[in-house]
Amino acid sequence: MNESPKLIIGNWKMNGLRAGTHQLMCEIVQRARGLPADVRLVVCPPFTQIERAGRILRARGVGQSIVVGGQDCHMSACGAHTGDISAEMLADVGARYVVLGHSERRQAHGETDALIRLKVRAAMSVGLVPVVCIGETMHERQEGRAASVLASQIDGSLTSDFDGILAYEPIWAIGSGVTPSRDELERTLYLLGGLLRSRLKKDDIRVPILYGGSVTPDQAHAILSIRSIGGVLVGNASLDAQRFMQIAEAA
Ligand code: PGA
Repeated sequence: MNESPKLIIGNWKMNGLRAGTHQLMCEIVQRARGLPADVRLVVCPPFTQIERAGRILRARGVGQSIVVGGQDCHMSACGAHTGDISAEMLADVGARYVVLGHSERRQAHGETDALIRLKVRAAMSVGLVPVVCIGETMHERQEGRAASVLASQIDGSLTSDFDGILAYEPIWAIGSGVTPSRDELERTLYLLGGLLRSRLKKDDIRVPILYGGSVTPDQAHAILSIRSIGGVLVGNASLDAQRFMQIAEAA
């Protein structure tokens, strides 16, 4: 698990028009030239820009080392779901990954663990790599319930044959400028590794665990130097090519 490439995933959230996407992708490609081979970049623009972003990567010959992903998908393959996007549609426009169960979707769209598990299944069925987000609120943390919240999110949202990525994103850290201490993060990664082993019922777990929440170039090195970390999920700082690539360089 620890020897696989470090993943640096950029979650653009609801940001990105055509011109801005073109510019940001070109800058990322330019700055990514010197990145070591054991760093993999995944850019997750809004649905409308996925194809464009992927096209720019392929046209510049970096479509293998930098790939694109979606930020959500529907649990069904097709049908009467106005406004939704299926996993197959994402794959069809070149996405390789899909972020699922982000706390902003859990909170603003009422997504439950059970729904996220169905989305995981839908993503895996078309060959997309699901990136499942879990994390506790500040309140749950203060009450000492973080471990049990994470355990129930893992149990509820991962399938037993889960083949993807887990992103630990404490809700209190997202967009707040506050991150867990290195010690705390190491302890949580250890806990999550154990939870994954018991959920997936196998010893040889190949599920990388990423950290997300206010990742900036300043603390990227401290986070990415933790041996058991699989990479980072970056929100705000991924909208700036220089900051995003400084994070990647820290891997
Ligand atoms: P942030 O967002 O880096 O802006 O805190 C992370 C995320 O929500 O994935």
